[in-house]
Amino acid sequence: MTNPLLDTWTTPFGLPPFDAITDDDWSPAVDTALEEATTRILAIAESQDAPTFENTILALESADRRLSDVLGAFYSVAGADSNPKREALQREFAPKLSAYSSAITSNKQLFQRIETLWTDRESLDLTPEQQRVLYLTHRSFVRSGAELTGFAEDRLTEIKSRLASLGTEFTQNLLADEREWEMPLSEADMEGLPSFVVSAARAAGEERGAGGPVVTLSRSLIVPFLQFSPRRDLRHKAYEAWTARGANGGDTDNRAIAAEILDLRAQRADLLGYDSFADYKLETEMAGNPQAVRDLLMQVWEPAKAAAEADATRLTAMLHADGHAGPLEPWDWRYYSEKRRKEEHDLDENEVKPYFQLGRMIEAAFDCANKLFGLQFAPADGPLYHPDVRMWDVTRNGEHVALFVGDYFARGSKRSGAWCGAMRSQRRTDGDVRAIVTNVCNFAKPPKGEPCLLSYDDARTLFHEFGHALHQMLSDVTYESISGTSVARDFVELPSQLYEHWLEVPQVLKDYATHAETGEPMPEALLDKVLGAATYDMGFQTVEYVASALVDLSFHDEEPPADPMQRQAEVLEEIGMPHAIRMRHATPHFAHVFSGDGYSSGYYSYMWSEVMDADAFAAFEEKGDPFDAELARSLEANILSRGGSEEAADLYTRFRGRMPGVEALLKGRGLADAA
Ligand SMILES: [Zn+2]
Repeated sequence: MTNPLLDTWTTPFGLPPFDAITDDDWSPAVDTALEEATTRILAIAESQDAPTFENTILALESADRRLSDVLGAFYSVAGADSNPKREALQREFAPKLSAYSSAITSNKQLFQRIETLWTDRESLDLTPEQQRVLYLTHRSFVRSGAELTGFAEDRLTEIKSRLASLGTEFTQNLLADEREWEMPLSEADMEGLPSFVVSAARAAGEERGAGGPVVTLSRSLIVPFLQFSPRRDLRHKAYEAWTARGANGGDTDNRAIAAEILDLRAQRADLLGYDSFADYKLETEMAGNPQAVRDLLMQVWEPAKAAAEADATRLTAMLHADGHAGPLEPWDWRYYSEKRRKEEHDLDENEVKPYFQLGRMIEAAFDCANKLFGLQFAPADGPLYHPDVRMWDVTRNGEHVALFVGDYFARGSKRSGAWCGAMRSQRRTDGDVRAIVTNVCNFAKPPKGEPCLLSYDDARTLFHEFGHALHQMLSDVTYESISGTSVARDFVELPSQLYEHWLEVPQVLKDYATHAETGEPMPEALLDKVLGAATYDMGFQTVEYVASALVDLSFHDEEPPADPMQRQAEVLEEIGMPHAIRMRHATPHFAHVFSGDGYSSGYYSYMWSEVMDADAFAAFEEKGDPFDAELARSLEANILSRGGSEEAADLYTRFRGRMPGVEALLKGRGLADAA
């Protein structure tokens, strides 16, 4: 019997033949594709011909074509429609794939060919895109240690493997501390809590067999508890437990692990020839270096702190009016802030929901893309992995641009969250290949015949993921490795966060946020409340976030601290952290930074992207037209179609005429007047 994954895909749009694939096909297909890729890569490395761009760099790009097609299909179903068999396959593939990539970067013959090309680059007559691909390929080999030999090479391997196990340990300790702690609630303890918190506490108690309702350290339970519980003593107890995760002494304490991780990262950077781990990490980012990150964070810090301090004064007065003396404490903030929010912007989710119908919001996202980029969307048919999944043929002036796949409903087999993926990326190395892009969300599926209603946040998520999809669909480059969303981490959220702004355009809401039953547009007053609620308590949120980002930066930019807790205290002291706010993630549970490498000296990047999206949308506001044709063309020509073909800073500057400034972000967060 043949394996449909390994046959030529003759489906519409070249989709994976989902209707013919069974779960038994994945493993043999991945093995065959891996073997094929490995053989091709060895052939490149061992070639007797002098290296050229085509026989080395392009050949490397194309070597695992079949593997990436098969994995593109597999990870689509593994994320959006999993089952125990597919979970087991994921565990089976992970070590195979990581062994495959380290075999490539540690192949000295292969690196020698790349090094030769890199040295001769001026005389190779390469196109700008080819120069970029050569530069990125060479850089990624060097960054993974291809230039090291002997003791240094062995030491780097040792460090990487020790870091991997420390990261796992850090995560597991955190989970253990979260599992361990619970606070039983009597009926009297629950007085004043809204019913959804009470039912969440009961459900948590049942799940743990606690014999009654409990508060746990899960963010989705403890945060609403801190927001709504009038019991200051219980809030205090819960808050202290929540912020002590990973710092409780004993087997699950993360403090020594954090210190060792920071030390090993500094050694790793040193072996590779960098001044610090932050220098190593930020080399590939738009920010480029630690100073640029610090400058950005400090520009936001002062106005955020001023806003938070003004808020603290208001909340302290409310605390005193309740008969408590003394200062506002961290376990008071969310409670009094929630009270104040109710007084100032009472917004009832149930009143808002009928205006955000899934179908209308999809149409709104499509219509904005039509107005901005001339794209058209027609429903299309083809084999898909689940009956709830839909797809559209995306065209412009009658020409096929991409295939867009929307998988919007939650189901047990789907992991949580929302994401954008590509089963196939745009490229021109083997014909004019167009992208197959997926948006996956987790909106509750309505009963048959009823419309699917979204919250405003859900609608923003839909626009966010669609912005990522546009980055893939409008991609117009030759090489896959720099196509679509293959850009720096602190640049990749620009198209998605920018697209969220079009949901806030009054005309878009007027046209598409219509009542599910009456068809009436949302009343002006409700619209104002929805938009106003988005900037509430931004001083607090910005302070807790920026403080974490500054501590992360200091850990990786300066000498690694022997005692990270002491360093954390010094940083907070230096920036004047307000008394009633703590870091969003303190060191012993700062998983972004210690569970893996992803966000180490990179926690700033959320704010970096937000600075850019606010600044980029301000360009449209300055024109007085959110659909200004010339700007939309420039956005596509300079950013959405260019992928990673140039440095992000150059792409952005060409669109905006300058680098991004923080003014639009401060305005958007309601912090502009606070400084
Ligand atoms: Zn995103």
